[in-house]
Amino acid sequence: MSVLRLAIASPLRRPFDYLPPPDMEPAQVITLQPGVRLRVPFGSREVTGYLLAVTRDSELELSALKPALTLLDPVPLVDARLLELCLWSADYYQHPVGEVMSALFPRALREGRNHQEAGETAWRLSIHGQGLPAGALSRSPRQAQALALLQQGDTVAARRFREKGISNAILAKLREKGLVENCLLPPPAERPEPGPGLDLNPEQSTVMADLRRSPRGFSCHLLEGVTGSGKTEIYLQLIADCLERDQQALVLIPEIGLTPQTLERFRQRFGGGIAVLHSGLSDARRYEAWEAARSGRARIVIGTRSAVFTPLENAGLIIVDEEHDSSYKQQDGFRYSARDVAVKRGQLSACPVLLGSATPSLESIHNALAGRYQLHRLTRRAGSARLPTLSALDLRRQELRAGLSPPLIEAVGETLRSGQQALLFLNRRGYAPTLQCHDCGWIAECMACDARLTVHRRQRRLRCHHCGAARRLPPECPDCMSQSLLVTGLGTEQSEEFLRQQFKQWPVFRVDSDSMQGRGAMQALVEEINRGQPCVLLGTQMLTKGHHFPGVALVAVIDTDALLFSPDFRGEERMAQLLTQVAGRAGRSDQPGRVILQTHYPDHPALQGLLRHSYQELAREMLERRRAAGLPPAGQLLMVRSDCADAGRGEGFLQRLREAAAEALPRGCNLIGPLPSPMQRRAGKFRSQLLLTAPGRREGQAAARLLVQQAEALPAGGGLKWSIDVDPTDVF
Ligand code: ADP
Ligand code: ZN
Ligand code: ZN
Repeated sequence: MSVLRLAIASPLRRPFDYLPPPDMEPAQVITLQPGVRLRVPFGSREVTGYLLAVTRDSELELSALKPALTLLDPVPLVDARLLELCLWSADYYQHPVGEVMSALFPRALREGRNHQEAGETAWRLSIHGQGLPAGALSRSPRQAQALALLQQGDTVAARRFREKGISNAILAKLREKGLVENCLLPPPAERPEPGPGLDLNPEQSTVMADLRRSPRGFSCHLLEGVTGSGKTEIYLQLIADCLERDQQALVLIPEIGLTPQTLERFRQRFGGGIAVLHSGLSDARRYEAWEAARSGRARIVIGTRSAVFTPLENAGLIIVDEEHDSSYKQQDGFRYSARDVAVKRGQLSACPVLLGSATPSLESIHNALAGRYQLHRLTRRAGSARLPTLSALDLRRQELRAGLSPPLIEAVGETLRSGQQALLFLNRRGYAPTLQCHDCGWIAECMACDARLTVHRRQRRLRCHHCGAARRLPPECPDCMSQSLLVTGLGTEQSEEFLRQQFKQWPVFRVDSDSMQGRGAMQALVEEINRGQPCVLLGTQMLTKGHHFPGVALVAVIDTDALLFSPDFRGEERMAQLLTQVAGRAGRSDQPGRVILQTHYPDHPALQGLLRHSYQELAREMLERRRAAGLPPAGQLLMVRSDCADAGRGEGFLQRLREAAAEALPRGCNLIGPLPSPMQRRAGKFRSQLLLTAPGRREGQAAARLLVQQAEALPAGGGLKWSIDVDPTDVF
């Protein structure tokens, strides 16, 4: 008797055994391939399972196994390499394999719908019909006409019959006679037609030649190129090579809604054949794009994080743009890094992987220096643009208005008067981060989080930026009824208000997640800005993501200090990346830009590092310090987190886990904690964490398995959730 071993989306980290569907022949059962979907009973529900293997035995009594209900796919919809990627990911990230597998499929397929190939309904002659001579069926002219149409070509879309006034009923009659049959007319393959590439400058040419020279099969490349150095042009030309070899290219980008221009450039260069996958798609559109990628109809697949799992017919190249971007890491559920999974995918698919960034992650630089990745550099801006000059503006003893010092206000004015654009960066939305009572000291805090509520003046609300809670702006202090409430600190709304008053003749655009709601809002704004009229752009991190603003001559960071003091061990790396990226928005065309960093700590070593050195040099210094501290990318970090309404119980669970795991830990591993997580209370739950440092991947992987095994064996009790995060990013 054969047993079907299935992966099922469930928090349980084990496969589930079933008997084959009762009506299936044993001969068919043994030919089932891993990856096919089946409907199975699961508790009181019916769910979709994914075949991992057909085996002969089970840990359970065969009589205890339930039969599967139906087989959904005769052959797997995804290929063996993608399945292997899932198995690897489930193991590496210690996440239940069923949940990883279900992430492969669009919703309809996860829910057990039959797979529908894309295409329009059409008709063709049956074998019997093919034997008919031309001019047959002359006694019923409509049927004869339909037949004649089919005799001219192979397959004719149902639409074309309707256009000629031949109804479905006529075709149904022909089908009854066994002369015609239904089929699907696959949508025409959209062949991209690459337009001519730009003439590469000498640096680009060298990089391109090196990339082309790398041997067939897997290799991983890091393209470290300053902002505007022409990385995207390299991507485009590599993709053209890939298409030439008749293979597909997968391109990951951090965010699509915010960077419509990137997509536009791909469309302009290649015309058709591009499928786009991101979280904003409707289920139907997602299915369409997924199917186009899977069937090979789409030759270029562009997507955000989860697109790394898109099935491809013939992968020839994987590109991860802005590889340092934190949005590649999923922070809940299946906590994977799309960048790292992309590298693994390249390995399994024997195709090259290119990671690109102006500010590569220390992980990737480490891998490049260790020789695992080939390093390619672009040190100059493409075309005529020059890199901007950075300077610190000492805020001490300056009179600030909405966070802006007199010299900055003057610089913005000058920029506008000379017909250019200014971009101001402030990474805090809302009006102000604190509402405080001047009489008793009360501060508006979120009821569910360890966080203050942000004042949103326009909406007349207090909002929590962590759990989304919102309430009306109180007219008086709830504790002492005083009406003197102070609004302290600074947010984008407040700076916007000031800038509008100060620079009345010019438009001020605010760009944050409050102001940029709805599809196309960003695109419309980008178009407006790129018309080049003088204006002030004020925004959060949203503004820094890969935009090209050729008219921006001045960039200023209003609150550099907020970036300087982060407790996380990646704080300095993040700051350096962010400031370099913000600075990179300036001077994209022929005039060099100017970058002003407002700070109370002009001598802060991290800031000085950035002013004196390039990101490239600074990154290598930071890497040294990480090595000395034994922190990633030296060694590996794991985190087990508990999440519970009772703080003591969560921490107690981690304490017992620590004790249970301590003896069996691989050599060189250390446990830290349990400790309260940063912002311990969030949406009403208390979070604590146990960290593990391992000297290398091998030890880290063994420790991850051990921790999960031990945690599963511990009684957690209701209401306590725990999770493991392999290579966590926000730790301290
Ligand atoms: P990056 O991706 O590194 O930010 P891009 O590829 O977007 O850089 O290039 C920046 C700008 O320079 C774009 O406007 C692009 O069209 C232009 N550019 C890139 N390569 C060349 C080249 N070889 N010759 C002229 N202009 C170029
Ligand atoms: Zn008060
Ligand atoms: Zn909250």
